[in-house]
Amino acid sequence: MARRKKIYEGKAKILYEGPEPGTIVQYFKDDATAFNAQKKDVIEGKGVLNNRLSEFFMTGLNNIGVPTHFIKRLNMREQLVRACEIIPLEVIVRNYAAGSLSKRLGIEEGTALPRPIVEYCYKDDKLGDPMVTEEHIAAFGWASQQDMDDVLALALRVNDFLSGVMMAVGIKLVDFKIEIGRVYEGDFQRLVVADEISPDSCRLWDMETGQHLDKDVFRRDLGSLTDAYTEVARRLGVMPKNATQITKPTLIN
Ligand code: UDP
Repeated sequence: MARRKKIYEGKAKILYEGPEPGTIVQYFKDDATAFNAQKKDVIEGKGVLNNRLSEFFMTGLNNIGVPTHFIKRLNMREQLVRACEIIPLEVIVRNYAAGSLSKRLGIEEGTALPRPIVEYCYKDDKLGDPMVTEEHIAAFGWASQQDMDDVLALALRVNDFLSGVMMAVGIKLVDFKIEIGRVYEGDFQRLVVADEISPDSCRLWDMETGQHLDKDVFRRDLGSLTDAYTEVARRLGVMPKNATQITKPTLIN
């Protein structure tokens, strides 16, 4: 059997060369990391859930005209995506204070922000993904001013879409992170939402109880991460309950 070419292995995903030029196969691992990989574990079924959830969000975005890299899901753990050149920024959108914003500015977690706040971090694990401003982005040439206008517009559209989808199932979208890629079409380049959108990269709180349904369950040792992600998937109708559990073969009479 021919071995396929691995392009990149990250903390939660592996990228393989796709079947056609300009395509990539994105494989979702079960590995969970936090605090710049200082905390690590393998959470059985996480990759399967994130593959499905990311498919759900990316398909929804494509359907409302927000371009993404997503083409189609291939199987339980893999999806076919368009190859793109990732802008080396984590684009964070916040609706409520939490995490690093709460720490930095001393604002209690859960405080509603007067408007969505967009922040940028430079993607560099060695440096711990430091926060940067548009000044740094322009000065170091990570993205042009035109790119940044488009990035901001995309980030806010993703925020409106995700907030609405989550609100419909009783979940508050506190904040999230996306990555943006460039795809080239002849002489033109277009920006698309890339990477993944899943509870690994969002903060999702139950509207009634405030229960965390995202990676903070792992970061803060709040219980079963699989149960939290399964609950999100169940509410969104993405996956039947227990679909990630591995069952033994049973005898059919
Ligand atoms: N986030 C992410 N990857 C990162 C950093 C942040 O997906 O490397 C997400 C995180 O899950 C949260 C949002 O971005 O939904 C804001 O994270 P924050 O800056 O509060 O950082 P944290 O408290 O997670 O360190």
